[in-house]
Amino acid sequence: MAGREENLSREKIAYFSMEMALSDDMHTFSGGLGVLAADAVRSSADLNIPLVAVTLVSKMGYFRQELTEDGVQIERPDEWDPSRFMQRLNDEVTVQIEGRDVRVRAWVYVVESPMGGTVPVYFLDTDVDGNAPGDKEITSYLYGGDEAYRIKQEIVLGIGGVRMLEKLGVNIRKYHMNEGHSAFLAVELLRRHELDVDSVRRMCVFTTHTPLESAQDKFNYNLVREILGELIPFELLQRLGGRDSLNMTLLALNLSHYVNGVGKKHKLVSKEKFPSYEFHAITNGIHSYTWTCESFRRLYDKYIPGWVQEPELLMRVDIIPDNEVWQAHQEAKEGLIDYVNSLAGAGLDYESLTIGFARRATEYKRHTMLFSDLERLKKAARRGNIQLIFAGKAHPKDYGGKMLIKQIFDAKRILKDYVKVVYLENYGLNMAAKLVSGVDVWLNTPSPPNEASGTSGMKAAHNGVINFSVLDGWWIEGWIEGVTGWAIGPEPDANLSPEERLARELDDLYGKLEYVVIPLYYKNRVEWITMMKNSIGKLASYFNSHRMMFRYLTQAYL
Ligand SMILES: *Cc1c(COP(=O)(O)O)cnc(C)c1O
Repeated sequence: MAGREENLSREKIAYFSMEMALSDDMHTFSGGLGVLAADAVRSSADLNIPLVAVTLVSKMGYFRQELTEDGVQIERPDEWDPSRFMQRLNDEVTVQIEGRDVRVRAWVYVVESPMGGTVPVYFLDTDVDGNAPGDKEITSYLYGGDEAYRIKQEIVLGIGGVRMLEKLGVNIRKYHMNEGHSAFLAVELLRRHELDVDSVRRMCVFTTHTPLESAQDKFNYNLVREILGELIPFELLQRLGGRDSLNMTLLALNLSHYVNGVGKKHKLVSKEKFPSYEFHAITNGIHSYTWTCESFRRLYDKYIPGWVQEPELLMRVDIIPDNEVWQAHQEAKEGLIDYVNSLAGAGLDYESLTIGFARRATEYKRHTMLFSDLERLKKAARRGNIQLIFAGKAHPKDYGGKMLIKQIFDAKRILKDYVKVVYLENYGLNMAAKLVSGVDVWLNTPSPPNEASGTSGMKAAHNGVINFSVLDGWWIEGWIEGVTGWAIGPEPDANLSPEERLARELDDLYGKLEYVVIPLYYKNRVEWITMMKNSIGKLASYFNSHRMMFRYLTQAYL
């Protein structure tokens, strides 16, 4: 394989992630975590950061979402064929699972930057001759199966990953755990370094991505003992991973010298949960070129050459004439409306104020907040037409998330003579790219402080789409009222009861929609375009993954 020789000479960062969202055709992602990993890889390739990535091949995918007329989610398998996209390596390593040797192979996909840099991504696969039928399926379903299945997957990712990189001769400077799923890699390193915690810590970097307890892996020790065995003395594992259950976040915290949250607020929230640890903050970013639509790419190429390699140049957006910004936006919007109408027969039009909301359907994201009070929504819509586009999958076991989808379908029926509402099936990367560039306003209503960062609003900003969002995650850092967008609800440190907070949020949501957003869109296009430009100049110039990777480089990797 090309690059093998270089591998041996140059020290690499090994970036481990359960999800990797490189393409809609490679079904190894469920949401923002995978998009972030892919954008980190793309920026590393652009910037020539010596990095390799490791993930699982998840050959049966996450799932393909179908929705009935009533908004009931049906999950279909989402198989994909890695041989269409990448090369299978001959190298093989083994991991021990329930006392058996399980063979692990890897596929390699090389992300190539137009600037010449490359980053190999290794997709681990246990579908190897000689493995028991059950073991062949360990790398089949992303976030599928039970606790035992997840432990096995994480053994393959963490331990199998370390062994595979060694087998491939990659010289590693730092191991970066993108979320706790890969924390077994640090256990494998302990085993290799005479159980010396300090030397393992020096090699490891950990990024935590969620403040939600339920989203952090915790495993029953009896199960861990059965499946993992005594890779290191169990006593030590329990000392590092927690007494009662194996907490992968805690394990990663104890075995990393650099730990970060994905936004400034998230750092503080993480510190509250784990007070005896030091947390840094590296705010997420998105890959500017990938998430900028055709029409805006052309515009930036014309007026801000070099923006792809230096997205901070987007701060010069004011040199672009207003009418060209508007034209670029309308082009993207018309493309989106055509796409939505062809998929859903929705009858949307090019002129109405179009609001988008798309993300994983899970309770804290509060997809239905806009429908809390239908009368207030109708009243706002009398100021000027609005049309709403939704999308998002709920995890098959997330019944609350499925309920949200159902409720949107109910609201759609009730509102049909007042506000057009569309819910698109099977949210993915291409659909996200169309949505975040083609709507006028990007809505986000998470329940604070649960949105660690959020990245879709950054994508919107790259396309001059204006954010209207609860002050949580990245938006706390990006928001300037009436300049870069609008806030929904109080500032994050406001000391309010949940009821008061919700009341404030609803007042802002409906009040600003009726008296600020809709009137501005229909009656003051010049001011609207100024806010579009501010989104580009003040948000996209900062909330990009080039800046993010420079931060990792100087603070965590070097
Ligand atoms: C960007 C993206 C996400 C993350 O969206 P958030 O609003 O940050 O949660 C999820 N899924 C897809 C397909 C995306 O492109």
